[in-house]
Amino acid sequence: MQLHGFKTMQLHAVLFDMDGVLFDSMPYHAKAWSQVMTNAGFLFTPEDVYMNEGRTGADTINTASIQQFGVKATQEQIDALCQEKCEIFSTYPPTPRMPAALELVQKVKACGLTPMIVTGSGTPTLLDRIQSNFPGLFKEEHIVTSFNVKRGKPNPGPYLLALEKGGFKPHEAIVVENAPLGVTAGVAARLFTVAANTGPLKDDVLYDAGANIVLPSIKELCDEWEELYNSIKAAN
Ligand code: CA
Repeated sequence: MQLHGFKTMQLHAVLFDMDGVLFDSMPYHAKAWSQVMTNAGFLFTPEDVYMNEGRTGADTINTASIQQFGVKATQEQIDALCQEKCEIFSTYPPTPRMPAALELVQKVKACGLTPMIVTGSGTPTLLDRIQSNFPGLFKEEHIVTSFNVKRGKPNPGPYLLALEKGGFKPHEAIVVENAPLGVTAGVAARLFTVAANTGPLKDDVLYDAGANIVLPSIKELCDEWEELYNSIKAAN
């Protein structure tokens, strides 16, 4: 927190990323994106999907297009690829909750903290899926999606908007992320950022992005929640 210029931390909220944190959905996203992008002539492996994770669909396509063809994609191309990706994704079985994610959010709420969601996703069924998997735990006004922001992660905008929506200051919230660009966004918003490395990338990628703590899973974070929460309180 000293790095971010804060002397103390009064924790009031936990800002959860969604894919790869609350839902074990990244293997499906990786498969669908790499298939669609490869068909469209891009070099795009499943690992590239994890490295781009957190970006909006449009940003993902534009970044690859600039890197590989030297130009931004057209809006028509972006719309077509996003639609194709959504169609493929919708043929997969419903994504399960990440193991221990429900218990973790319940623990956060039981501590009197506000759980929020900050995601680059913008699927139409997203809110229903959150409410059916985490009933009563996330208020709709405490969810930031790609519909709410112009610039997605790694820009800090989505996390700054979450703070604004919840009425919180950076020293009153922590972030839970799984992806390097998501960590970058959290750190850029001056938030204490916990990474759960639920994907195939090395821990170093998350530390290099600025993560304050890297744990191997959401289950581990859930198991260690009391210790983390107490050490944050004791640090004041
Ligand atoms: Ca994620």
